[in-house]
This record gives sequence, C-alpha cells and structure tokens, in this order.
Amino acid sequence: MPRRPAVEDVNGFLVLRGFFDRQTQEALVAACLDVARDAPFFTPTMGDGRPFRIEMTNAGEWGWLSDRTGYRYARHHPLTGRAWPPLPPLLLTSMRCALAETSGLAVAEAFGPQCFLINRYSAERRGRLGLHRDEDERDRSQPIVTLSLGADAVFLAGGLTRRDPVERVIVGSGDVVVMGGRSRMAYHGVDRLLPTLATPMAEGLRLSVTARRVDIVT
Ligand code: FE
Repeated sequence: MPRRPAVEDVNGFLVLRGFFDRQTQEALVAACLDVARDAPFFTPTMGDGRPFRIEMTNAGEWGWLSDRTGYRYARHHPLTGRAWPPLPPLLLTSMRCALAETSGLAVAEAFGPQCFLINRYSAERRGRLGLHRDEDERDRSQPIVTLSLGADAVFLAGGLTRRDPVERVIVGSGDVVVMGGRSRMAYHGVDRLLPTLATPMAEGLRLSVTARRVDIVT
C-alpha cells in the first residue's frame, strides 16, 4: 500500500512531511535559482538599518521587502529596478498539491498567490528569522504556504500573541508548512539551521519559498 504523507497539526500550523521526492526537490531548487538569476538575492534591512540574517528575493506580481522605510510589498526589485520574474509554474503547482493534501481540493483550487518570497539561509551567516506575524497583506482569506528546501531548520510555531508558548518543529527539505485559519495570523520564525546530510543544496544552505495572496495595501 502506498503511504499517504502525514499532516501534523502544531499549534494550528499544518506541517506536511515527505511530500516531495528527491527529484522534485531538485527541480524546485532549480526553479528558485532561476528566479534568483533574474532577480538576485539581496539582504534586506530593518527600519533601524540592521541587516537581516537572511537574503531574499521574490517572484510574482508583488515582492516583499524591508529597508529603512519599513516592510512593504513592491512591484520592482530594489537593486535592479526590474519587475519580479513570474511565478514559476512548477512551484505554483507544487504548492497547490501540498495544499490539497493539508486543506482539501477546494482550498487548493482557489489558491491564488501573488508573491513567492524566497529566503536564503546559510549556516555561515547563522541564518535565522525572528518571531513575527505576516500582516502586510490586505487579503488574509487564503492560507500562506511555505516550502523548505535544503538544510533542516528549527521552525518556531507560536500563537496569536508574542507571549504565547512557541512549539519548535524541525522542517526538512521538501516539507511544507501551511498557515491558515487560526494560524494565519500566528507568530512564527526560524530559530536556526541544523547540520543536515545530503540535501539537494550545498551543505549549510536552505531556501524557503513562501506563497502569499497580497491584494494590496503597502
Ligand atoms: Fe513569516
């Protein structure tokens, strides 16, 4: 009997493991690197000028970024001035398939992301992302889907306030985390990378791809 992948509910975050095989993971990494060839990774900064510990780029109608004027969605890459590349079809289809598994076919078919934020974490730079909520989107009716590729990471699954207890979940290459329903506005972050063998990326590197509906206030 083929084994159905397991969906785990962690504080309302749906974690789907083992959904993408190795060959698919490699194709997903290649799709991300294609985006980065057109729209190179950049290091965003906080409002006070401190750099993030990760690099970012985007695909789609809107790209999320942060600099001294704050967090926002923008139509253009901050360094090249070009529009973001289109959503890679393989990534979009993969997100839909994962969402069908966690949330059902109707949710997957209705899913219309306008931004794929691609974050690049490296062990060398001690990649991490502090506890935050995704709240720059006007349209919060659809779930947010995040795909992990490369090194394992410790994902922080919090609650609706910053003080709520945080569950630590290891996310590995090909795993997907869905924030929808009560976790859509929950606090979350990435604490650190873990040493990981034999991923489709070079040692100590991780990509995450976060698919969001935006429909916009910025
Ligand atoms: Fe987030």
